[in-house]
Amino acid sequence: MRYISTRGGINPIPFKDAVMMGLASDGGLLLPQSYPSVTREQLESWRGLSYPELAFEVISRFVDDIPDDDLKSLIIRSYATFTHPDVTPLVKYDGVYILELFHGVTLAFKDVALQFLGNLFEYILAERKQTLNIIGATSGDTGSAAIHGVRGKKGISIFILHPHGKTSAVQAMQMTSVTDANVHNIAVRGTFDDCQDMVKELFGDLDFKEKYSLGAVNSINWARVLAQVVYYFYAWLRVTDQTEAPVHFSVPTGNFGDIFAGYVAKRMGLPVDKLLLATNENNILTRFINASDYSLGGVVSTVSPSMDIQIASNFERYLFHLFAENSDRVKEAFAELKEHGRISCSLAEMAQVRKDFCSASVDQAATLQTIRNFYAETGYLLDPHTAVGVKAALDLLPPDSARVCLATAHPAKFSETVEQSLGFQVPVPESVKELYGKPTRCELMDADIDKIREFFVANVG
Ligand SMILES: *Cc1c(COP(=O)(O)O)cnc(C)c1O
Repeated sequence: MRYISTRGGINPIPFKDAVMMGLASDGGLLLPQSYPSVTREQLESWRGLSYPELAFEVISRFVDDIPDDDLKSLIIRSYATFTHPDVTPLVKYDGVYILELFHGVTLAFKDVALQFLGNLFEYILAERKQTLNIIGATSGDTGSAAIHGVRGKKGISIFILHPHGKTSAVQAMQMTSVTDANVHNIAVRGTFDDCQDMVKELFGDLDFKEKYSLGAVNSINWARVLAQVVYYFYAWLRVTDQTEAPVHFSVPTGNFGDIFAGYVAKRMGLPVDKLLLATNENNILTRFINASDYSLGGVVSTVSPSMDIQIASNFERYLFHLFAENSDRVKEAFAELKEHGRISCSLAEMAQVRKDFCSASVDQAATLQTIRNFYAETGYLLDPHTAVGVKAALDLLPPDSARVCLATAHPAKFSETVEQSLGFQVPVPESVKELYGKPTRCELMDADIDKIREFFVANVG
């Protein structure tokens, strides 16, 4: 299996190189040259597998440069940190299946990918006798999952910038309570955009990037998408244990990483009927799917902050396939975006988009109402991101089908909003209780790129 870039500018590379490259060196995103197909017979033979066993079956089809035993051990270690024996259990309430992806250390689905990526980085770096310095900006979820993915790992240091006082309380504690020597939290007096801009500037300095072996952990790494493909297979197997109804997935979407993993599962032959892309008020992808309108607007803050995104970085991966793997067409689309703030598609392309996805945008009032209604009817607590997907599924998908809604965060992670909606305190899980009173380590700094660079150089591993 070799990997190529959506922009067509690199020679095909093996899996481990694709993991270390992250963003393709020509500015595109990496994808496998083809998707391995899984037959119905194979699928049936996977019914009895545990989550890590299934993960090995799916992931190993994309990896031919890591020995099976090593890959197995990486996968087993990655999912041993989850607190539920099923890793991503499926529950059913009121005719909706909820795929709980939040049983990892930071209570959000990003742990599924970042626990695996952390172990994978450590493995490849040890083999190559290299080191890596990860720098990233976070509004909360990615940073905490990335820190927990690489804490204490050999050969890796991580520097995460977050906007001081602008993440949820739990998110901040999940980051700053990690005091391993290789973890550096920087609380910036400023906004998420300030953090993001400074990180971009550091990466833009190519000499600096080379000298300090800078790496990123944002959702463009292929290994993250790959790890997420697994739970679509897992959920499909658990649903079809119970019913023969057609299976749909509803996915609360920000950067398009999670739903792209569903698209990959479908391309591999998983019998998925519809992929429903659910957005909040930041609805560029919904406008695109429903009204052929991919035009940039401003980002608005909502009660589902991990989906407050305008430019979904993984969307380029889908466009590459939509444009029949034509890199020139991809480049043309991004040139149009840069120049005119939009991407235009042909009627035939839009027909294909609507075959691949359906979509709905759910506003804050409807999100809060859904948390209330769902709790009143089932006693089950939805986090605000999950509620966006559940509302979209209830509105758009047939009630007699199997509607699987991806639960991307534990309600306690966004307890402020859930409590605002319900009017009572949500139960606090053990792992959150333990955070209070833990020692913390965090550097409070101004949004000053020179100071940040100095701090990095002084603390680099
Ligand atoms: C990151 C995140 C999302 C969005 O996922 P994408 O892969 O960026 O589309 C949704 N919900 C939660 C809780 C998240 O942390």
